[in-house]
Amino acid sequence: MRLFSIFGDPISHSRSPLMHNSVFKTLNVCACYSRTHLSDGAKLREVFYAKGLSGANVTVPHKEAAYEQCDEVRGIAHTIKAVNTLVLEEGKLIGYNTDADGFMRAIESFGPLQNALILGAGGTARALSIALRQGGITPSILNRSHKRLEYFLTEGFDACTWDDFTAAPYDLIINTTSAGLNDNELPIPRLLLTELLSLSKGAIDVIYGKETPFLREIKISGLPYKDGSDMLLAQGVLASYLFLEGKFDKDAIEIPMKQSFSL
Ligand code: NDP
Repeated sequence: MRLFSIFGDPISHSRSPLMHNSVFKTLNVCACYSRTHLSDGAKLREVFYAKGLSGANVTVPHKEAAYEQCDEVRGIAHTIKAVNTLVLEEGKLIGYNTDADGFMRAIESFGPLQNALILGAGGTARALSIALRQGGITPSILNRSHKRLEYFLTEGFDACTWDDFTAAPYDLIINTTSAGLNDNELPIPRLLLTELLSLSKGAIDVIYGKETPFLREIKISGLPYKDGSDMLLAQGVLASYLFLEGKFDKDAIEIPMKQSFSL
């Protein structure tokens, strides 16, 4: 039996085991996917090999640590410098980032976009900013503090803190902060958010499985919106495709994975 797992801290909330095990069961793949609580990201590689895994996903806060510990990094993960999917290939640890492509798939339903405002400057914001730029959409980054903006400024993005920001029209407002995940906070001050929403065309929160204060405000504004479920599904389909070595097509993977959302 091939073994897979997701590494993170915290990890008990993760839907990934349900998603991936549904795919294995439906496609008759002899494999099992578990959760691994890991507090020390530096031990990721060691634990991966000790558990005899064939592949893994990596979530908050270990995506940068995973990037550092791969034998080889492929695709967009190179530029993002963060890895959320690991695959064992001839004994070597190969790293990918499926969050970025998953997000681009999830926002197709908003139609053609010229620009976007990313709230937050963490690992997810990095992934999305690079993916948006590669997709021909100009991202700007807005964060509450300066330190994490350095990466974006070095990459040549328009990036600032609340203090330096002036509201402007955007095709899409994207919340990548963890505000609202375990608290009742908005990602930016309410007045600023209201002004932005009055100028913009749509919004997405990458948090899934709950109505965040951000999503509540979008609903009130009447703008088209979605939560992070479509992104979660799309990144999972791409990860599963890699785990199954391209032997099944993505549509065959997506059907059982999507069904697992209603379990
Ligand atoms: P990080 O910890 O790397 O970054 C968090 C960011 O949020 C930082 O910019 C931080 O600002 C900001 N922030 C945190 N709390 C607040 C607050 N109360 N108000 C304003 N800003 C705040 O996290 P990640 O980028 O890895 O993940 C972010 C979110 O994305 C998580 O909720 C995660 O669950 C979700 N996610 C969803 C995915 C999906 O498939 N749907 C995939 C990947 C992630 P500062 O720099 O000032 O500290």
